[in-house]
Amino acid sequence: MDKTAVVKVGAAASASVCALFGGVVLAQYMFAKKKRAGKKTKIIEMMPEFEKNTVHMRDPERVEQIICGMIKGGASKLQVITDFDMTLSRFAVNGQRCPTCHNIIDNCKLVTEDCRTKLLELKNTYYPIEIDPHLTMEEKYPFMVEWYFKSHTLLVEQRLQKEKLSEVVRDSDACLREGYEPFFDRLQQHNVPVFIFSAGLGDVLEEIIHQAGVYHPNVKVVSNFMDFDENGELRGFKGELIHVFNKHDGALRNTEYFKQVKDNCNIVLLGDSLGDLNMADGVPNVENILKIGFLNDKVPPQPTLMTPPPQTLSAPITS
Ligand code: C5P
Ligand code: MG
Repeated sequence: MDKTAVVKVGAAASASVCALFGGVVLAQYMFAKKKRAGKKTKIIEMMPEFEKNTVHMRDPERVEQIICGMIKGGASKLQVITDFDMTLSRFAVNGQRCPTCHNIIDNCKLVTEDCRTKLLELKNTYYPIEIDPHLTMEEKYPFMVEWYFKSHTLLVEQRLQKEKLSEVVRDSDACLREGYEPFFDRLQQHNVPVFIFSAGLGDVLEEIIHQAGVYHPNVKVVSNFMDFDENGELRGFKGELIHVFNKHDGALRNTEYFKQVKDNCNIVLLGDSLGDLNMADGVPNVENILKIGFLNDKVPPQPTLMTPPPQTLSAPITS
């Protein structure tokens, strides 16, 4: 039986993505020690990350169960399925928004002022829809398709050059979340597969993690990849579009990958959008899944955080 739980993490949390993995290792050690001493203790109480007031668990008992299952399974049964923009990358630094993969291109010097203005207008129209807590995912879906279609068409018109992408990323304000290095490095050391499933731009994403030195062999990226012509100029996008709300068929589209990691039955899933909750739908053989949502935008002031905000990643999950 699948065990599902959600942990919500407020943006204010200096929640590092490596904390969970590091915490689990620490908890595993302490658990073994306490067990030997005959004491009963909760794992999530031993992990300081879970104690922060910006971390919300709908059902701590279930999180406890899941973490215990994961500890029991060890690294050889673990896999990570993660979103990229605003999950592995940062939402803001010192109050300043950080760019998504798309924004890195929108703001680069290869794009004309006219095109930049149009892309910004599109963002101002569609991003509020993406994060509107009063609309269902089904209602948002066609708007996302429209946004991607229009913005990708504009990018193709710019005939972006493949060879300029690394420079564009180097000159950008791309910023990975605090703790990204030990997160990626530990997962690599322990051979834990990491599946990055992003509705961003694959080429930009790969360049970011490559430049950050964390594109290890255990990392697989599935995203919207650019299609370049024989002159290295953008002429379209490869494969089916991945947008924010069609991630539920990711496992179906990547059956080969998930067959290869079929023994990794414990999943840590990371995301920042309600659409990310479904990224592991259809993954075979799941025993435990811990869903961690980063609440980035529209974060209520601290005191009211005790009451769940309207757009919570836990809403559609029943555990
Ligand atoms: O990696 P992830 O799936 O989060 O990437 C999707 C993000 O890209 C969305 O949050 C969306 O706001 C952003 N986006 C964008 N410009 C577009 C299309 C999507 O910034 N033209
Ligand atoms: Mg995201």
